[in-house]
Amino acid sequence: MHLIAEEISVQTYTHGVLGALAGAVFFPHEPTVQIACIMGSMAPDGFTFVKYALDKMQGRPPFSNWSRLPWFIEATHSFVVGAILVILALLSGTWAIPSVRGFLLSAIFLHVLVDVFTHIAPEYKDTDATYLWPLPGSLRPSFGWEYRRPKVNGGHNIKLKPVEGMIIAIALVVTIVIYLH
Ligand SMILES: [Zn+2]
Repeated sequence: MHLIAEEISVQTYTHGVLGALAGAVFFPHEPTVQIACIMGSMAPDGFTFVKYALDKMQGRPPFSNWSRLPWFIEATHSFVVGAILVILALLSGTWAIPSVRGFLLSAIFLHVLVDVFTHIAPEYKDTDATYLWPLPGSLRPSFGWEYRRPKVNGGHNIKLKPVEGMIIAIALVVTIVIYLH
């Protein structure tokens, strides 16, 4: 099965909007930390984005030469790697820096946790992250909301989903209300 990049993840900008919301809720008067939350909530998809851009630039259908999920996507979507980063931040004393905390917590809980519960259909199993890399096994749940729709006529589907659009709208409104408060 070919990995269809557009189906890998919830749109990265949706993760970013959720990061903005989390920043507004948890760090209301700290703009630097808010930016760190937005960056952190999008960071795990960084490699995917670079790959997408490169394929587009080279005139290839995005992700058409990926046959399985690359290890670096596993690594950026792993709770094990996330835990190691948190421990390293604690040991190095950088955990005390609010932006570092905001970035790591957003990456792990806002990004990866959202992915866990939006990537559940068994037909994507081979190309979905296990969330435990580099350990064996998988944390894929059997419940949640499958974000991806089946491809129509082999085409890709990167359009904003209605439910996702609603979530973005609500998150943006709440974020703005908090900012104006
Ligand atoms: Zn992701």
